[in-house]
Amino acid sequence: MGIAVREADQSATVEGLWRATVDHVREEYLSESQRFPWIVGFSGGKDSTLVTHAIFEMLMGIRPSQRTRPIHIVSNDTLVESPLVMSHLNTVTRQIEDAAIALGFPMTVARTHPDPDKTFWVLLIGKGYPSPNMTMRWCTDRLKIQPTSGYIKRQVSASGAAIVVLGVRRDESQSRQRSIDRRRNMRGENLSEHDRLPGAFIFRPILDLAIDEVWEILGTTHAPWGGSHASLIQLYRDSEGGECPVVLSADEAPGCGTSNSRFGCWTCTVVEKDKSLQGFVDSGMFYYQPLIEFRDWLKSIRNRTDMRQAFRRNGRLTFDVNGRHIPGPFTIAARKEIFDRLMQIQENFDGELISESEIRQIRQIWADELQNSGSLASV
Ligand code: SF4
Repeated sequence: MGIAVREADQSATVEGLWRATVDHVREEYLSESQRFPWIVGFSGGKDSTLVTHAIFEMLMGIRPSQRTRPIHIVSNDTLVESPLVMSHLNTVTRQIEDAAIALGFPMTVARTHPDPDKTFWVLLIGKGYPSPNMTMRWCTDRLKIQPTSGYIKRQVSASGAAIVVLGVRRDESQSRQRSIDRRRNMRGENLSEHDRLPGAFIFRPILDLAIDEVWEILGTTHAPWGGSHASLIQLYRDSEGGECPVVLSADEAPGCGTSNSRFGCWTCTVVEKDKSLQGFVDSGMFYYQPLIEFRDWLKSIRNRTDMRQAFRRNGRLTFDVNGRHIPGPFTIAARKEIFDRLMQIQENFDGELISESEIRQIRQIWADELQNSGSLASV
């Protein structure tokens, strides 16, 4: 759509671009692929909010009898999301769900999570995975890609295929751009095959909107599920952050753990500094300060050899190509120290940073590990 609109009329107004976007969404919704559900990756950020807004407007503009294609609005919760972002996401998805029910839309609002044995805390504190960094970014796949991909795969197997609707835009970043271009070449104008999820196709209705156009539309329209987009705009102002989009593959995750400082995990040690939590603190939300300090500490201990085991979890000693020893996971003592520090913050924090079930799993992993190494008594 966006490309066609711009080619036809370079001077298109933002209002015209928005109308064309909604028209394009309608055309695709009513297309022959109608029997396949739409799965909208909803992160609560500006781009996926705009896509969901366009879908609402489209549904309101067609006859109820035409609303036959099911739509899933799916958000992922890594369980270590920035708490303020999570609170915004919870509010908006509730509003979307209520409005969809009231309007009789064929819409399901869903939330995905990492598998219970693959959460950030279970892997880091339980199994001792070192704090993630650029070369060992073990988290993105487990916390983001697998949960969302799992949901899509279930819809593909239930319906034969599924269309994933994403709020990606061409101007987002170079690596995301490359990923988009590669896919565009694979299949026509509107839909492209997902290269890792057979039966899944991708539809990107705002591909050619520029960032200022996105903000202009959000700033001048009411949220169709009620109210305005003011809280979203305020959230960005407070965080000075970008958007952590719904992630379906590693090369699509440039903002996940980069200095772009997206609305990512508050625990993210891949970034140098967590600018978004710092942004909230700078905006007066001082209760996030202990989280920033904890994250900084977690990053600082990553390469401390006194806190890492010599052997990997598989019992092997590992060396790099230069013969340098690569340490194994955090020692049990280090994991316990991380746990104790986290629990200290949790005590005074209004909100859950780690769940009871994660704590149970962590204790079980420690006990199993110590039993295997024959020193159960020390924890
Ligand atoms: S935001 Fe950081 S911690 Fe979270 S999945 Fe991405 S790289 Fe990992």
